[in-house]
Amino acid sequence: MKSRILLIEDNPQNSYMTCFLLEHRGYEVTVAQTGPEGLALAATLLPDLILLDIQLPGMDGHTVARRLKADPQLRGVPVIAVTSYAMQGDREKCVEAGAEGYIEKPIDPDTFVDEVERFLRQALPPGFPGKAP
Ligand code: MN
Repeated sequence: MKSRILLIEDNPQNSYMTCFLLEHRGYEVTVAQTGPEGLALAATLLPDLILLDIQLPGMDGHTVARRLKADPQLRGVPVIAVTSYAMQGDREKCVEAGAEGYIEKPIDPDTFVDEVERFLRQALPPGFPGKAP
């Protein structure tokens, strides 16, 4: 069984590319387009990993990350910020908000899934069915 990934991203083109790359490698991807939708889906799906856009309408990704990490049921799910928000200190802001990692946009189709799998390997216990080899 491959891991389940929740993608919180409001840009349809980014979602399309990210889903395409992950599904091509056998991952099950669910997309949320807003922070509140992402929080609700995270609670029902309990995904193995969350990919989080930072520039989201209404509730920004930092707030979403903080809320995920404040939830005892969800705090163990790794959150990887995926953002082109190249403002100085943004990486630190993501980490402060609780994100375990950071992948820069535009994503590189040749390396993106490998990067995601690196975070999954760190997160999953040995022998977990969804753990990448
Ligand atoms: Mn966005």
